[in-house]
Amino acid sequence: MEQLTRFLQSSPTPWHAVVHMERMLSDRGFSVLSEESVWSLRPGGRYIIRRQPGALIAFIIPPETPSSQPDDLPRIHLACAHTDSPGLNLKPIPCKRKAGNLVLDVEVYGSPLLSTWFDRDLGLAGHVTLIGPDGGLRQHLIDFGEPVAILPSLAIHLNREANEGYKIRKHEDLSPMLLHPFFSRDQDPSTAFRNGILQYLGTRHPGEAIQGWEPISWDLSLYDVVGPQYMGGTKGWVTGGRLDNLLSCFAAVTALADATTETNPEAPILPMLACFNHEESGSLSHVGAQSNFLSSVLKRLLHLPGRFERTLSRSLMISVDAAHGVHPNFADKHDGNNAPILNAGVVFKRNANQRYAHSVVAEGMLKGLCRARAIPWQEFAMRADMPCGSTIGPMLSAKLGLHAVDLGIASWAMHSIRETAGLNDLNHLQSLLTGFFSSP
Ligand SMILES: [Zn+2]
Repeated sequence: MEQLTRFLQSSPTPWHAVVHMERMLSDRGFSVLSEESVWSLRPGGRYIIRRQPGALIAFIIPPETPSSQPDDLPRIHLACAHTDSPGLNLKPIPCKRKAGNLVLDVEVYGSPLLSTWFDRDLGLAGHVTLIGPDGGLRQHLIDFGEPVAILPSLAIHLNREANEGYKIRKHEDLSPMLLHPFFSRDQDPSTAFRNGILQYLGTRHPGEAIQGWEPISWDLSLYDVVGPQYMGGTKGWVTGGRLDNLLSCFAAVTALADATTETNPEAPILPMLACFNHEESGSLSHVGAQSNFLSSVLKRLLHLPGRFERTLSRSLMISVDAAHGVHPNFADKHDGNNAPILNAGVVFKRNANQRYAHSVVAEGMLKGLCRARAIPWQEFAMRADMPCGSTIGPMLSAKLGLHAVDLGIASWAMHSIRETAGLNDLNHLQSLLTGFFSSP
């Protein structure tokens, strides 16, 4: 639980999640490759490639065996997940004055449950580019790690219908009050923002000269500073922000680090993890699942003619993402027959219209693995009269021609600022992914 807490708390944005995942893997013998450099990969080597913001691929080259041939094809066992979560992102001009207060101007990212963002202690995190007096540029990750702003509800006395359902006006109602002392209310909003960021950097990097530098570009978002909380011990429940889909990232990273890639000349497994950003907005960016990131890494790994296609045709993929656990107060929103319960096992997700990746071959293999490792599983399908969400599974399996399956762990309140999931399910997911990444 300690490791999970550290991961969730130090990952307020996809930028930070990638840095933390890289650290977890480096501690377990993975080394970083840059997309810019020439790679020399050795059998048994463990590697990470990151593409910020928010994308990371890691894999283990199968060890060489006495009978290895230069054209031996591995089977890739790929697990993919996303690092982003819905929320509130700062606009290009991020500060303004409203009724005498300094407020943040935000844009809604993805589809958060907006009502849950009110009355929370909001932190500010992301990435800033500074420009110096001589035109030089510096990159900084930012995480205030303490409350910076709050979005107060309107008092019930001023809105007597508040409990009858209020339609949130995204443009008017979502300007959090900026209350951190680094941002002065006496300055004009742009100066207050610039000085606030510089003051933050000055305190975090006391040795570095900040004089004359100024923020020229930023990617900043808000988050709930209250970290994860636990109920019911190690097999109980976790509540917190961004569990969709940081729990899957956590399970996949720890499973890859634990994978045993012993020599198996009959079927060498190349375990691989791919995390992407921007799933919540459709995955179309240079770090999203629609980017060339994964296919470019795979092409470099499998550079002999025909090897790329031949290897993928014998490989498997899991798309790991959060699932909807049945909500007892709204049980009629679920198909009673296909409604997973929290802490009752890993959830296989299925949709006839391919909103989730599915192949009977991949599903059969994974359910066999569940059986072998005594992992309980459950099924999820939507009610026949309700539309279904989606994941990065269908687009990646389509693009690469991979047999794939969508699975994950059940949660309540998906896309709330605080979600709830089962720790026992997380243990089962880790065990399933460790088996998937390991040689049979
Ligand atoms: Zn998700």
